Amino acid sequence: MTTATAPAVKESYDALIERSKEAALLGSTCSLLHWDKETYMPPGGAENRANQLALLAGIIHDKCVDPVLGERLSRCEASDLVKDGATVEAVNVRELRRMYDKETKLPKRLVEELVRTSSLSQEAWVTARKESDYGKFLPWLEKLIKLTREKADCWGYDKNPYDALLDEFEPYETCENVSKVFAGLQRELVGLIERIAGAPKRPDKTILIRSYPVERQVSLCRGAAAAVGFDFQSGRIDTVVHPFCSGIGPGDTRITTRYNERFLNESFFGTMHETGHALYDQGLPREHYGTPMGSSVSLAIHESQSRMWENFVGRSRAFWTFFLPETRKAFPEALGSVGLDAFVHAVNTVEPSYIRVEADEATYNLHIVLRFELEQALVSGKLAAKDLPEAWNKRFKELLGIAVPDDRRGCLQDVHWSFGHIGYFATYTLGNLYAAQFFAQARKDLPGLEDSFAKGDFRPLLDWLRRKIHCQGMRLRAGELVREVTDRPLGHADLIAHLKAKFEPLYGL
Ligand code: ZN
Repeated sequence: MTTATAPAVKESYDALIERSKEAALLGSTCSLLHWDKETYMPPGGAENRANQLALLAGIIHDKCVDPVLGERLSRCEASDLVKDGATVEAVNVRELRRMYDKETKLPKRLVEELVRTSSLSQEAWVTARKESDYGKFLPWLEKLIKLTREKADCWGYDKNPYDALLDEFEPYETCENVSKVFAGLQRELVGLIERIAGAPKRPDKTILIRSYPVERQVSLCRGAAAAVGFDFQSGRIDTVVHPFCSGIGPGDTRITTRYNERFLNESFFGTMHETGHALYDQGLPREHYGTPMGSSVSLAIHESQSRMWENFVGRSRAFWTFFLPETRKAFPEALGSVGLDAFVHAVNTVEPSYIRVEADEATYNLHIVLRFELEQALVSGKLAAKDLPEAWNKRFKELLGIAVPDDRRGCLQDVHWSFGHIGYFATYTLGNLYAAQFFAQARKDLPGLEDSFAKGDFRPLLDWLRRKIHCQGMRLRAGELVREVTDRPLGHADLIAHLKAKFEPLYGL
């Protein structure tokens, strides 16, 4: 470009950024309304809240599909501004283009039909799951698959329509790459889980199913979150039915959890998980708030942070060396006579089970492999929706070795498909894989890392994550980030090595 046009480019770019920040502020207002709806809103407020959220969603959508954005993007793309792909400007333009194309390629008719269908479909799913009656959900699933296929066609893809769907949740990821990584993981996991099933040492799970008074769980969870670095000046923890983390904006990150009087794991590891998400949000660069450079990379990278603090830190022996004495003090009746070995083994129980969200660190990934395979078959048409329960049950038995008793504990258990979220599940196991690879690198870079955990010092790990991942925003795509941080593409080796190193000694293998 000639220098004469430079001011026009600068003007276009500044206007793009201003619009991006406005959309982010509106989005964060939606997040706050959503958080309030899940935590403190009285039931009577539901209808007005739905109207508020719908109005804001419409305003955001209009801002994001404005044709003037397309013109500004094109002007920036044709200029020197984006010549060096690593600059703030180039990253912002790249990602704003991606979002603009996603928003504008879908016809309004399809967007509205998807919203309407998924809202009705969720109601049908709630009843179907409660009654374990797949027939009540089937017509909705059929319709959602059809609409989802249409969505993929609008977005476009090279080889596989599933790629377009995956890209919605995990930008730039492909089905081919995920299949390759998952195949290696599955092969080794199945063997490990079988060996654990026949292992001589067994955990005493009952340790965790004792009386754990809720008010003491509340302060324990707050203590754990603070210990690993959650900033209560810039965040809070509240109680909900379905826990989540909501990054409202700089200086305001809210996590939620739920308490079960007779089971410690739910609140504790739930809090550690959401704290991991929150630490990422609290570490994003404030100066870029509201733009891609100030945003998280992807769902899988976000999940890698939650899984790291939940599993790689929170279920480690080093963590409990530090934290068990305090936990014992909080629950002297339940844990007074429980030793470190017994406790660590109990929180690391591996056992095939039906429900994904209750699964342990090892078997969890087989639940995802199953969903990833079935979603592809449903989208490609190889599997008809009416045959889903049979296909689910057959594959579940092959992967986890137990027979599904009913559809409530089988193909009806997750809410995702009823939302039309097809292509989402893979991000959970990708998150585990990224977590393992990042953690292995952190251990190399920070000798004595676990000794610091045992002393209650989590700063070295948090600082490392802040530096390597959080402060980068969306500068790199997920696949590039893992290469830059660990020098290798994403693979399954580190996750398997982590699981073996943990479970083999616990189970006496
Ligand atoms: Zn999560």
